[in-house]
Amino acid sequence: MKKVVLTGIREMKMITVPNPILTDEDDVKIKLASIGVCGSDIHYYSEGKIGTQVVDYPFAVGHECSGTIVEVGPKVTNVKVGDLVVVDPAIHCGHCDQCLSGRPHTCRNNKFLGCPGQIEGCLSDYIVMPAFTCIPVTGKMNAVQAALIEPFTIGVYSVKLAEIKKKETSAVIFGAGPIGLSILLKLLADEIKNVGMIEPLDYRLEKAKEIGVRYIINPVKQDVEKEVKKHEELLVDVAFEASGEQESVSNAIKILKPGGKLILVGIPPSAQYTFDMDLMRRKELTIINVRRQNHCVEEAIDLVIRGKADVEKMVTHHFTLDETSTAFDIVAGYKDGAIKAMIDF
Ligand SMILES: [Zn+2]
Ligand SMILES: [Zn+2]
Repeated sequence: MKKVVLTGIREMKMITVPNPILTDEDDVKIKLASIGVCGSDIHYYSEGKIGTQVVDYPFAVGHECSGTIVEVGPKVTNVKVGDLVVVDPAIHCGHCDQCLSGRPHTCRNNKFLGCPGQIEGCLSDYIVMPAFTCIPVTGKMNAVQAALIEPFTIGVYSVKLAEIKKKETSAVIFGAGPIGLSILLKLLADEIKNVGMIEPLDYRLEKAKEIGVRYIINPVKQDVEKEVKKHEELLVDVAFEASGEQESVSNAIKILKPGGKLILVGIPPSAQYTFDMDLMRRKELTIINVRRQNHCVEEAIDLVIRGKADVEKMVTHHFTLDETSTAFDIVAGYKDGAIKAMIDF
């Protein structure tokens, strides 16, 4: 089969390898149908690492995917050959303290698709996964929607962690990339409409507008604090940071009202943020970290099936597996109006 591997910083190549085989009675073999290029894949491509997770070349990234089941182990009952499935890229152990306390996403033995040192990613024709990671969606959504469930799930989980109780709650999102837009889609699905988007790229602001954000702010051209005050005199209840930028964190602390919440979702390139402790303490802000997602896959699927979240709106480009390096270059360079690029089969 064909497989695309990273071979160095901003280098990748296509290789031919034997098809993967089932190694466990609970395994399934999946023929890939659609793969989303994620910001984290781009970090590994451009920088060779995220924090302490360093790529050992050659290595295949990719974790946002859907596919068709082509083979099942003897113990598999939840899916059958021919099913289109959403793949949850996280394989948790099921017996560590985290798994047993309802936190499989921080499992001590977590193996995440396309995460260096864990398991090879999905940029290939076939992958083998434990059946429990696959959710059948045949006839309910298309392959692209199914591959978008993973990033959308992060948005669903981020909003869940914010514990927003009232529909009038005011929120802002920093960063209109796929995760910021996923947060927006989930907020709107929950009828939380008082949402602003802060993003330096105008084409991304336009996309947020098209999806339904109430106001947009470009931090390069406008003073964020001043602009937010025009819309929210008393400042905002919740800020979602989905850009990974220090400037966004600093602005978020300024525009949150006392008692507000800052939800950190974005991945900062340097692994360090500084906070204005004086302001943060006086406002008694709550900071919440988001690690991927926990128990939100079913809800994400349900919102897409019921037409509550049009996840395909964030897709700007489609490529084939042979064109993967072009896809990565376009996404890494924010070229050609790129937001979400898909590799389709
Ligand atoms: Zn992702
Ligand atoms: Zn575990």
